[in-house]
Amino acid sequence: MRILLTNDDGVHAPGLKVLEEIARQFSDDIWICAPSEEQSGAGHSLTLTRPVRLHKLGERRFAVTGTPTDAVMMALRTVMPAPPDIILSGVNRGANLGDDITYSGTVSAAIEGALAGIRAIALSQVYAREGMGDDVPFGAARAWGARVLQPLIDAPLAERTLININFPALAPEEVKGIRVVRQGFHDYSRGTVVEGRDPRGYRYFWFGLDPIEHTLDHGTDLEAIEEGYVAVTPLQLDLTHYSTIGILAERFGG
Ligand code: MN
Repeated sequence: MRILLTNDDGVHAPGLKVLEEIARQFSDDIWICAPSEEQSGAGHSLTLTRPVRLHKLGERRFAVTGTPTDAVMMALRTVMPAPPDIILSGVNRGANLGDDITYSGTVSAAIEGALAGIRAIALSQVYAREGMGDDVPFGAARAWGARVLQPLIDAPLAERTLININFPALAPEEVKGIRVVRQGFHDYSRGTVVEGRDPRGYRYFWFGLDPIEHTLDHGTDLEAIEEGYVAVTPLQLDLTHYSTIGILAERFGG
């Protein structure tokens, strides 16, 4: 089994090493192609306005000066001699739950895999609070990664779908189990922008630092994480809201 690993935290991120440890429990045919710098929040962006460089860091190990989507595209079209059987993206430093996933470079790398018709799985490690820097513990992901991936390796998946996995911010022995759940809802409407001044006296702004309001609806990824479970959510690329088609068609006289 040939596995491609990527992420959005950059090719040198600790979470990518954790992912490699997990993936090597399934195969020795591991390829890594990841952004050279952190790309968290890059979503599904594709670099169109500047050149993208490819750097070989070692055997089957590459860095791309672009986004997670660039890295997967580069891996599939330029780097790998044959397509992988599976693409794993992560392990992200931080949650990708609820509506966060539209911002997520980690999930978007998996989306790019799904678009290419390849089984794709995003993995994220939730952490307890902001300000932990490089000290975010990946213990839950390391201990539970293979256990949650094993049934997904050959599970029947529809085309244009992918899997989103989140590990709770708990020590491995505190994790209660694995739940298959739907995507929850985050309320971003009251999000603040943190303002400060840089050492040269200029104003700067920082997004994404406030605790996000969320609704712990039953059966959601947010609830599962809150209750100490690994959350597994199947996602689809079709964003159409089907029941609105009829309503709008009526408005347009259809
Ligand atoms: Mn990230």
